[in-house]
Amino acid sequence: MLVVGSVALDHVETPFGSVEEAPGGSAIYFAAAASVLTSVQVVGVVGTDYPRGKLAFLAEQGVDLTGVETADGESFRWKGRYSYDLNERDTIWTRLGVFAQFRPRIPDHFRDSRSVFLGNIDPQLQLDVLKQVRRPRLTACDTMNFWIERSREALLTILARVDILLVNDSEARQLAGEPNLLKAARWIQARGPEWVVVKKGEHGAILFGKDSVFFVPGYPLEQVLDPTGAGDAFAGGFLGCLDWTGGTSEDDFRRAMVYGSALGSFAVEAFGVDRLIGLEPDAVVERIRQFRDMTAFELEMHVPPDG
Ligand code: AMP
Repeated sequence: MLVVGSVALDHVETPFGSVEEAPGGSAIYFAAAASVLTSVQVVGVVGTDYPRGKLAFLAEQGVDLTGVETADGESFRWKGRYSYDLNERDTIWTRLGVFAQFRPRIPDHFRDSRSVFLGNIDPQLQLDVLKQVRRPRLTACDTMNFWIERSREALLTILARVDILLVNDSEARQLAGEPNLLKAARWIQARGPEWVVVKKGEHGAILFGKDSVFFVPGYPLEQVLDPTGAGDAFAGGFLGCLDWTGGTSEDDFRRAMVYGSALGSFAVEAFGVDRLIGLEPDAVVERIRQFRDMTAFELEMHVPPDG
């Protein structure tokens, strides 16, 4: 499957430590997670200063990086700082560098990809990507408040063209101009995507289908070190699972939600992408089993006594 998004060098501070110049960006977190389940092709841009060796782990996981072009200039860099409970994040600075001029060029051998994930970039560029691919079976996109405020028209055009939108809860409300999440999801679906996935951080995620709602919890972890990239790792697990199984039924989408939550939970256990490097499929399968145990219950209906 194909992913287009940012390829970054991240600087992150949490109450539990910090990292500098760590490989990050939406495309990298997505690819690291999805490559546990399926084969992944990345399109993005880095500057001449990017230490390409830091992406070698992805190549070792079978990721095709030939679509990551090197442009003259500095790589995209971002610094974020988290609050004590890790639920709030401030962007300290963003240095766009070569990312400001990014015009995705899809290599010919990527144009027949079965599935496409449009990471959080300018919706106009997301549209350009869709024009370059042939007939993907499944298309999905992510976005953020910045684009909802500044590029609403282009965003609505892209919504009409994708099968799935993944957003967090505040973005869904903002996009729809609707405080109720169920109504917000239905508003989004009426504009195109058959499926809407609303991510709620440590509280899990909700899948809205045509006439259905499915909820997956966040995996309870005793130690969360760095929430950066959890949303993209969720998207990688979710779409990686759909690409790998090839299924399009409600059951396939529900299973994919659990894979999304599992991969998101691995991402936050260590700084940067560290926990996703060389992640064993067995560890993922074990976590999926735990999800099933955590959410299974016997259905026994209470019958009120007569009178
Ligand atoms: P998430 O935690 O899912 O929001 O993703 C964080 C990742 O997004 C980090 O690795 C950043 O490098 C990347 N990022 C931050 N700001 C932007 C931006 N404006 N455009 C694209 N990627 C960004």
